[in-house]
Amino acid sequence: MIPIDKDIFENTEVAFAHKTDTELQKAKWLFSLIGNNKLVSLGTSVAGFALKIHLPISPLFRVTVYDHFCGGETFEECKKTIAKLKKSGAYAMLNYGVELKEREEDFDKTIEKNIEALEFAGKNKDVKVLCIKITGFGRFDLFEKIQDGKKLTSAEEEELKRVVVRFEKVCESAVKNDVGLYVDAEESWIQDTLDSLTEEMMAKHNKKKAIVYNTFQHYRWDRLDYLHRQLAAAKKGGYILGAKLVRGAYMEKERDRATQKGDKSPIHDDKTGVDKDYDAAVELCLDHLDHVYVCIASQSEESNMKAIKEIDAKKIDRKHPHILFSQLYGMGDNITFNLAWLGFNASKYLPYGPVKDVIPYLMRRAQENTSVSGQMGRELRLLTTEIRRRKACK
Ligand SMILES: Cc1cc2nc3c(=O)[nH]c(=O)nc-3n(C[C@H](O)[C@H](O)[C@H](O)COP(=O)(O)OP(=O)(O)OC[C@H]3O[C@@H](n4cnc5c(N)ncnc54)[C@H](O)[C@@H]3O)c2cc1C
Repeated sequence: MIPIDKDIFENTEVAFAHKTDTELQKAKWLFSLIGNNKLVSLGTSVAGFALKIHLPISPLFRVTVYDHFCGGETFEECKKTIAKLKKSGAYAMLNYGVELKEREEDFDKTIEKNIEALEFAGKNKDVKVLCIKITGFGRFDLFEKIQDGKKLTSAEEEELKRVVVRFEKVCESAVKNDVGLYVDAEESWIQDTLDSLTEEMMAKHNKKKAIVYNTFQHYRWDRLDYLHRQLAAAKKGGYILGAKLVRGAYMEKERDRATQKGDKSPIHDDKTGVDKDYDAAVELCLDHLDHVYVCIASQSEESNMKAIKEIDAKKIDRKHPHILFSQLYGMGDNITFNLAWLGFNASKYLPYGPVKDVIPYLMRRAQENTSVSGQMGRELRLLTTEIRRRKACK
């Protein structure tokens, strides 16, 4: 067993083994652009406008941001990306990158797309998981109305039934194809509704193993307690808890809304509280692997380091089938591929789909990245180190 060195995530040779010299230079150029807040802000406004007036900006996106952050437009293209990941020891987590639409026909189309992806994943052992959003199955406002405890009209009752049927169809396909289904966590003002739907599906489909997973956002101060309660419910109900652990993507939006409404913010006051809860959640899951399948979905070197040290200290098999690490495709390669090299189950969250439909996802990613300036600096530093290392070897 390879020992865990404290500098393990600095090993750029392993981290970027899947990239050619040209790809490294391109990634460096891309991260320098993304690291520039003003440029990203201008770029996203211009791209948003160009999309609205149907300017053909897809080819430009395709050769820049898309290729770096996405698996491909079709499953055939994704196969190449998946094979590349596999070569470096990582699995793929597919995500149909098309964002929020609000019409019934779009929800039905999303289901079709999800089922196609599950069937593709079922035939490809290197795809472990499909990530889905319940807001792809029904209207956001409907979920909010349910959470607010307001009475639904009879038309809305029917709408809700259709959401459940759609979710159920996707779960059945996940069971049939033996592929994990990770349900994304979203805004706190619809999350209770999403949680109830997901809990129901977990109780039904996770009898022998975890197929359906819920996501726990630990930037919320109430989620560690919720994780404890979910674990107890799974034990009592005789099913396995599927838990994807994240910090959370909507911090500013959550805080702004709470301020506007004069409510207490659902988010921890500071990052220290988030980190403490995140690491405690990892430990809780590692201590209950008989009842939990866990995905440690974080780009934090500290949290990943703590998790792997704990796994070794607790004498848990590094390849334990109930543990999976994950980072976003195109970021955190130093974590993913070094974890794989150490023998842990590592994976990449891999969005795919037509370029023009995935552009909103990419714009969000770029904007989110500007708020994670430390991480951009880290990506740039690692890419530069590897470029220099390769030059020195020539
Ligand atoms: C595979 C995968 C799946 C994901 N699925 C989801 C999902 O379903 N739902 C979702 O919301 N997100 C999801 N994410 C996104 C994830 O939440 C962000 O990538 C994550 O928040 C970044 O945190 P980190 O753990 O990588 O590490 P870090 O870089 O250590 O943490 C940054 C995060 O900490 C929190 N934070 C930072 N500063 C403060 C502060 N002052 N006070 C309080 N909190 C603070 C924020 O959440 C911020 O994003 C997913 C990420 C991955 C890799």
